[in-house]
Amino acid sequence: MEYSKISDSIYIMHPTQGNKLQKSVTNTVPTTCIAHPDGLIFVDCGTYPNLSSKFRLDMETKFYRKTTHLLLTHLHWDHFLAIESFKDVDIVAAELGINEFNNFINTINQVEVDKWASRFLIDDEEIINIVKKVDLFPPNTLIKEELIIGSPGNEVIFRIIGGHSIDSAYVYIPSQKVLCAGDNLIECYAQLPGTPEKTIEIYTHWASLAIDKIIPGHGNVVDKKYLLKVKTYFEDLVSALKNLIKNKIPRKEIFSHHTLPNYFAKSLPNWIESSKPDMNWIEMTIKGWYRYFKLNKSIFTSRR
Ligand SMILES: [Zn+2]
Repeated sequence: MEYSKISDSIYIMHPTQGNKLQKSVTNTVPTTCIAHPDGLIFVDCGTYPNLSSKFRLDMETKFYRKTTHLLLTHLHWDHFLAIESFKDVDIVAAELGINEFNNFINTINQVEVDKWASRFLIDDEEIINIVKKVDLFPPNTLIKEELIIGSPGNEVIFRIIGGHSIDSAYVYIPSQKVLCAGDNLIECYAQLPGTPEKTIEIYTHWASLAIDKIIPGHGNVVDKKYLLKVKTYFEDLVSALKNLIKNKIPRKEIFSHHTLPNYFAKSLPNWIESSKPDMNWIEMTIKGWYRYFKLNKSIFTSRR
């Protein structure tokens, strides 16, 4: 576990121990602590209750404040499994995610944790044991669009935007120029975006905000330049795919086509193709978006 200072009032906890641990979908999720004047606000509790509890206690000691909120960027298990560390505070999530949350609970209750793990290719014994023992309960504050905590000058904004999942939200702290992006922006793996239109809409909106630092859903903290590079990549991808379809290039030929943009982050030191072996998340998105544009010919043609 490592803590990093993001600004005077924002710290993050990374579950990785230096570079010793191999990256996984769970140990790459940062937990954020915002020291708001009225109390501590955490964003995403991650997967490990012992680490989240320690981080919470350390921050409460450091800032002499109680914790008031846990904000969940979306209800995927790698971001909420340690929820028991925040049992006594307001736990905030998008109302739209509650089915996904209940599905997870029902799955691990009905098919048993071992079967769930093999179905999702999870072979980490530590995670399997956490899932078996952990106390899970639904968030008590479900939001339809937006929640603003604090008054002008020190607001923390929780806003639902969709994209990566229908319930994906981001947290923006204007006074610190910090954005917690959730899984709509990832640093160590390829992006896992929603539809092309939604993706461009989200990145365009974020590009309009005053931002110095972005805490991604997985990986290390990035700056606005990183966001703009991701935005440019997807804009280039959209126009390349539309042209490939227009020119009737078959799907099997698109990956080797010279007009397809290169994903810049592949050359960065922290890069891994995907959190699962033998999977390529970039190819997955390209295939999905190609199919999407083919099936949505009306959208495609009306925009030409
Ligand atoms: Zn995630």
